Amino acid sequence: MANPTGPTHGNDEFKKRSFATKLIHFGAEIDGVTGAASVPLYQASTFHQFSLDEPQAYDYTRSGNPTRQALEDYIALLEGGSRGFAFASGMAAISGAFMLLSAGDHVICTEDVYGGTYRLLTTILTRMNIETTFVDMTDLNQVQAALKPNTKAVFLETPSNPTLKITDIAAVTAWTKERDLLTMLDNTFMTPYHQRPIELGVDIVLHSATKFLGGHSDVTAGLAVAANDTLGRRLKQIQNGLGTVLGINDSWLLMRGMKTLKARMEAHELSARRLADWLSSNPAVETVYYPGLPNHPGRDIHEKQSLGYGAVVSFDVGSGERAKRLLSKVRIPLVAVSLGAVESILSYPAMMSHAAMPREVRHQRGIRDGLVRYSVGLEDIEDIIEDLEQALAED
Ligand SMILES: *Cc1c(COP(=O)(O)O)cnc(C)c1O
Repeated sequence: MANPTGPTHGNDEFKKRSFATKLIHFGAEIDGVTGAASVPLYQASTFHQFSLDEPQAYDYTRSGNPTRQALEDYIALLEGGSRGFAFASGMAAISGAFMLLSAGDHVICTEDVYGGTYRLLTTILTRMNIETTFVDMTDLNQVQAALKPNTKAVFLETPSNPTLKITDIAAVTAWTKERDLLTMLDNTFMTPYHQRPIELGVDIVLHSATKFLGGHSDVTAGLAVAANDTLGRRLKQIQNGLGTVLGINDSWLLMRGMKTLKARMEAHELSARRLADWLSSNPAVETVYYPGLPNHPGRDIHEKQSLGYGAVVSFDVGSGERAKRLLSKVRIPLVAVSLGAVESILSYPAMMSHAAMPREVRHQRGIRDGLVRYSVGLEDIEDIIEDLEQALAED
């Protein structure tokens, strides 16, 4: 039987090409049976077994489906990993990765971790007797000081959300490899276009594909990539065992979005750099957080490990009243949680993503009442700036 999607898994010819070419030619872009120019939607939950004596590639969609497999091979190729896995959401992917741990294990995690990951670690995994120490990952001494005899994993997120702090990935993995610790990294903000953590020694890369990879605010999905086959086999068992797989239509939609990742990221970033510069010279703005700014403390490290600064710019307008006024006056961005879409999205961490965090802890992490986060979309940057100018102006 012809291979329906011609998987890229282990295909060296594809691996050698540059990132831009991989985005378009990932092995499943032409259907092997009909020549169709997109991966077919195998909208089936089960597969007829032609012979009970010969095992088939697919038997039941939770365990494997050609459409989802094409996406999984696609993200593995882009991240330079061994195997990819598609989950129902970013949190499903992250939860799945933590299932590699066992009761009694200890995790070291960045204190600036995504709110959902924080919640998972502090309210669910604690009940499984997996404990976490949160540290400022920009300081390697703090990471090392958190080591316990039962430490098994280190979880990174860089740039962090929403103040875009930078962790030195290679410095952390040099240490975790010495100690035989599992290193996981949430690469949602950068995407493999800007940052490929496996090349820097990370074992498992995670994504909320709901954001830049999908890119259109129309699909909720998560992706995980294992650096090697051993971890890949273990993640496969977890994904199949938990059953938190991505549906077939969403797998297709995500691939459709990912093909334009480079074009989108480049356009997003050009605009984000311009916006960060403009905000920096605006007297109504107290602080601007963007790794591309010359005064960003993590800029040198970020430039060493990433190919771009990304599309997220956070800035502090000085007070909660002023932030709320800004949110009520902007006319271009969505005022919403989430990021990474074709449309600009303006978020208010103090009342949205970080509302559950105690005020003092929040302030200590720089998430003050005047802080807003702008995910720069693909609108004309001059329009975005003009809109912010009128929204920031005193009446
Ligand atoms: C949104 C997000 C997640 C969670 O992803 P979902 O798809 O919403 O489950 C995880 N990490 C980061 C950095 C995110 O921005």
